[in-house]
Amino acid sequence: MDLAGAHPALLHFTEVGPRDGLQNLASEVPTAGKLELVERLLDAGVDQVEVTSFVSPKWVPKMADAEELIARLVGARGHGVLERVRVLVPNPRGMERALQAGVRHVVANVAVTDTFNHRNLNHTVQETLAELAVMARTAALQGCRFDVGLSVAFGCPFEGLVDPDRVAELADRCQELGVAEIGIADTIGVADPRQVGSVVEHLLRSGIPTEQLSLHFHDTRAMGLANSLAAYELGVRRFEGSVGGIGGCPFAPRATGNVCSEDLLHMLARVGARTTVDLQAMCQTAEFLEKLLGEALPGRLYRAGIWTGQPS
Ligand code: ZN
Repeated sequence: MDLAGAHPALLHFTEVGPRDGLQNLASEVPTAGKLELVERLLDAGVDQVEVTSFVSPKWVPKMADAEELIARLVGARGHGVLERVRVLVPNPRGMERALQAGVRHVVANVAVTDTFNHRNLNHTVQETLAELAVMARTAALQGCRFDVGLSVAFGCPFEGLVDPDRVAELADRCQELGVAEIGIADTIGVADPRQVGSVVEHLLRSGIPTEQLSLHFHDTRAMGLANSLAAYELGVRRFEGSVGGIGGCPFAPRATGNVCSEDLLHMLARVGARTTVDLQAMCQTAEFLEKLLGEALPGRLYRAGIWTGQPS
């Protein structure tokens, strides 16, 4: 599976707003609104969109329309659209549902700490690793791409600061399972740029190639962009974010969400990264989302506009 870009500066971007963003917001968005959001993001040229989660509707009622959303998306754009669609699956059961729905690319999470993993998935880390092994086998048999995200990789609300060796150990396990991409997630938004450098260096030293790493930051404490830049400077080219910076943090009720996609891509483009994403279209998507949610979003670029360098 080719993860490397054709050019060292070329970014690979996963938009997670429809899943991570919407899941952590108070407002309910109807399926038609989610569909339009996903289509706008695809049209803006993001490499892939994390569209939904095949989690039990008992846990997350907001994602109960997962099957319907995928079916409507395929109805609107044909099966080819699934090449750019990823969904979250919490366990083998969720993966079965996703495969039944025709999805070709899934991501599952495991937390780096037992306490967080237990709160989030009701399992120890070891138990979840056993489930990931089952899912990895199913994925290989079905020709489905399988990514794993490591939650709370920088800090855990229950266990505090995380040892980078522990992150590297879990990343090694993922590699043994044949995982395509390993996501390193600052789920509660506590990382700082120096710590990002330390974690990424640990991962590289333990033999994980930069092409396999994807960094997922939350802007909870306004360090999302700085953290992304720190990772970029170490060669990371795969990033995740949410349009308009929507979302939140289940452990900080007043916190903002994921690092804002268009702010992040704009910053990285300014320092020389190449991307397929149309920033103007992303800003328009944030404006659309602002209307859909009926509130201003945390993102900056869509409000300020893109500076062209020309006097106005
Ligand atoms: Zn997240």
